[in-house]
Amino acid sequence: MNALIFAVLAAAVALAYYGYSYTTEAAVERSEQQIMEDLAEEKVNAVESQVVEADNALLHNVQLDQLDKLPEQVRTSDPWISSVFVLDEHLKVVPGGTAASDDPKQAVANRDWYLANVIPKLPKPLRLDERMHAYGRHDDRPYLLAYMKKQLGDRTYYVVVEDNVFQLMLWVFPKVFESQHASKLLYQVFDDRGSRAYGWPYKYNTYAPVQFSDTLDGWELRVIASQPPAESALRHQHAVDSVLIGGAVTIILVGLAFLALAIRRERRANELKSDFISNVSHELKTPLSIITMFGEMLANGRTKSPEQATEYAEIIYREGVRLDRLIENVLDFAKIERGMGVYEFAEADLGDVVTRAVDLAARRLQTAEMTIDVELEPDLPQVKIDANAVTLAVLNLVDNAIKYASSGKRVALTLKQEDHRVVMAVRDWGPGIEAEEQAKIFERFYRAKAMRLKPIRGSGIGLALVQHIARAHGGDVSVTSKPGEGATFQLWLPI
Ligand code: ADP
Repeated sequence: MNALIFAVLAAAVALAYYGYSYTTEAAVERSEQQIMEDLAEEKVNAVESQVVEADNALLHNVQLDQLDKLPEQVRTSDPWISSVFVLDEHLKVVPGGTAASDDPKQAVANRDWYLANVIPKLPKPLRLDERMHAYGRHDDRPYLLAYMKKQLGDRTYYVVVEDNVFQLMLWVFPKVFESQHASKLLYQVFDDRGSRAYGWPYKYNTYAPVQFSDTLDGWELRVIASQPPAESALRHQHAVDSVLIGGAVTIILVGLAFLALAIRRERRANELKSDFISNVSHELKTPLSIITMFGEMLANGRTKSPEQATEYAEIIYREGVRLDRLIENVLDFAKIERGMGVYEFAEADLGDVVTRAVDLAARRLQTAEMTIDVELEPDLPQVKIDANAVTLAVLNLVDNAIKYASSGKRVALTLKQEDHRVVMAVRDWGPGIEAEEQAKIFERFYRAKAMRLKPIRGSGIGLALVQHIARAHGGDVSVTSKPGEGATFQLWLPI
């Protein structure tokens, strides 16, 4: 029982530990997610601030009255800035207001395309000297414009800077993403159409994406852990966890079931025990009062004839024997209950033991007006037994036949060898035992219902004792009975 309680406790502690570790694991995962998002945001800022800085430097430096410097300004600016054009307040290119890092002819065509298709749709800057940006696609090619409203004297004009997206990716992304963290983390940039524009095509463990907002609108950055958690290791861990948790739950359930069963058994045993105490007290009291009564009569010489005196003495003797048997039963049973080594085995002739027990019961059989047929197979082998214990067992069986089956008038006792066993059978022709009670009568303190109603005294430990004795010898005892036709108790011992 202690081991069981310990197992249930251990299982409960294991479950509690799992619950705790799962919540902390989830918390760690959440904070890791937060870190990754912060990191992604920092990286997006790093990319955008580089672009914005380059844009701003150029946007601020271009002056309407120094347009001759324009080509030089473009050439010396960051490599992804591909062209600049300066527009008047009506969005017309001012003379000398175009400069490009590549082929001038293409630059003009490019500029005109923007003027025709993009510039008119752009939101007008409300404030002066503030960078605005526009991202979009031209013939599937992404473009990025930065523009600014400026003023010279009373003239308003616009400066537009064209950033080449591919050059930008080439120059800025590696610098930002391949820094000191590269060994542990990987970055992926997805464009506004959701295709991967930068990074390795890993699919595992991506964290919540962070959007670009000041330059490449609609693009996003994802951070991924470079070491994928080994899938099989995860699955293995999961299986181990499941088995452990399942095991803990099973132990708890089985433990509780056992406890419930033990409590039920204990409660039943307690009920039977209190029955037993009242039975035994009664059993002790009755013979004692008979002995006292007849003893007193004899002592006072209140007998009519010598025959009557003998009869009284016989009654006293009978009750004395009964008392002795009962006390022996109770004491032996108590010893067995306490689990003491009560048996002393020695080679003996089972036939002799049975004969002696029958002799001891002869007088009571006679009083009950019963006869006993004893049939002993000759030349039975010697067996290793505790002769006293076996005598007690035989006496209990014969006594029960006298007590419960005296109506049948006879008892038959046989002893014979069957294979490697010696089998003793005690048959009576009494009321028999109900089928559902046949197993229960061997339980300690149990008495059959029909017998409890009759004024037959008993303690309910006789058959429990017989069973214990038989099993201690490596044998067993069983009963076969048809109600109304008597009962046969079979006790076998191994040779
Ligand atoms: P006790 O005789 O003190 O009641 P036992 O353990 O010897 O205790 O017997 C248990 C029960 O088995 C008895 O109460 C009785 O109901 C039943 N029993 C035992 N032997 C017989 C028998 N030969 N015929 C009918 N019932 C029996």
